[in-house]
Amino acid sequence: MSELILSRRSIMATLATGAAGLAAGGGALALASPAQAQKRNMLAPGANAIQTAINAAHGRYLGLQEGKNADYIPALAEVSSAFFGIAVAGQDGKVYEVGDSKQLFSIQSISKVFTAALVMQESGDQKIEDSVGVDATGQVFNSITAVEQYRGKEMNPFVNPGAIATVGNVKGSSPDEVWAKILQFHSDCAGRQLDVNQPVYKSEGDTNQRNRAISALMSAYERFPMDPAVAVDLYTRQCSINVSAHDLAVMGATLAFGGRNPVTGKQVLDRSHVPGLLAIMSTAGMYDDSGKWLFHTGLPTKSGVGGGLVGVAPGKFGIGTFAPPLDAAGNSVRGQRAITDIVRALNANPYAQFD
Ligand code: GLN
Repeated sequence: MSELILSRRSIMATLATGAAGLAAGGGALALASPAQAQKRNMLAPGANAIQTAINAAHGRYLGLQEGKNADYIPALAEVSSAFFGIAVAGQDGKVYEVGDSKQLFSIQSISKVFTAALVMQESGDQKIEDSVGVDATGQVFNSITAVEQYRGKEMNPFVNPGAIATVGNVKGSSPDEVWAKILQFHSDCAGRQLDVNQPVYKSEGDTNQRNRAISALMSAYERFPMDPAVAVDLYTRQCSINVSAHDLAVMGATLAFGGRNPVTGKQVLDRSHVPGLLAIMSTAGMYDDSGKWLFHTGLPTKSGVGGGLVGVAPGKFGIGTFAPPLDAAGNSVRGQRAITDIVRALNANPYAQFD
């Protein structure tokens, strides 16, 4: 078992290096000569190609009925399984969308990316590596075994223990101050003021005994300084932030363009933090299926049990999808199919940029 985990982890580390290198390359291009910039623009997919690709994927998978809504958070089971929306945001801030792309739903684990980004921005990338690690655990996202195995370290900010500890590492003199920062950061990335889905927040708060145990355990391993009950409450609240596929596309595009929101023009995150963040999305963003996902798409992507996905094509676009039924790994079935096809149609796999 441990041998299996070790080999899995070393493969992931190799992949991460590739993703980080490419993402850094994308950032460097933005500072390059006009000729190079022009070349990049030629590589960016055109408006017609994007709209055609998302329409085709939406039509192809609209009737697909595989998967099941998450139900361990009771409110998520009540969301219509039929919703299906796709949105892509490009460098010029234009958003292309189809289907239920404006439908709001709880962001869930996708929030883990943006709170990790906030901690990187406030305290440096090293803080994430030192506090919770940047390695895939090879176990499910709410595994307690993984915490025990790694003593709360050498995990990553996208599994629940790492995510709760990441919230617990946001600086602030009160829970309200920390919460205001988390919500503002997410809102800045989306380019509009976001809100909490109160029924989902209450539903998860009433049933999150396991996350409370995880928070207490991570606190026992001294992975964060905040009161563990406060950290898990703030984490639950951040998972309940309402977003749409449109919002996720803009949030993804903010990362795709080096931390600058292409809709508002605001530099939300310093460019230097993006490659590391995308590397963790690549190795751990799709939980136990992260390797498989990377193999097929190469795209740094993060999923949430609410049915959302956010994908980042560095220098090209951000993509957001919403379709609640999940597969066994906890990832949206139709969202994965759609993004896989769109990445192929738009030649957006970061590992396939050879021109
Ligand atoms: N709030 C959810 C939880 O903690 C998030 C999990 C997820 O989206 N994978 O269980």
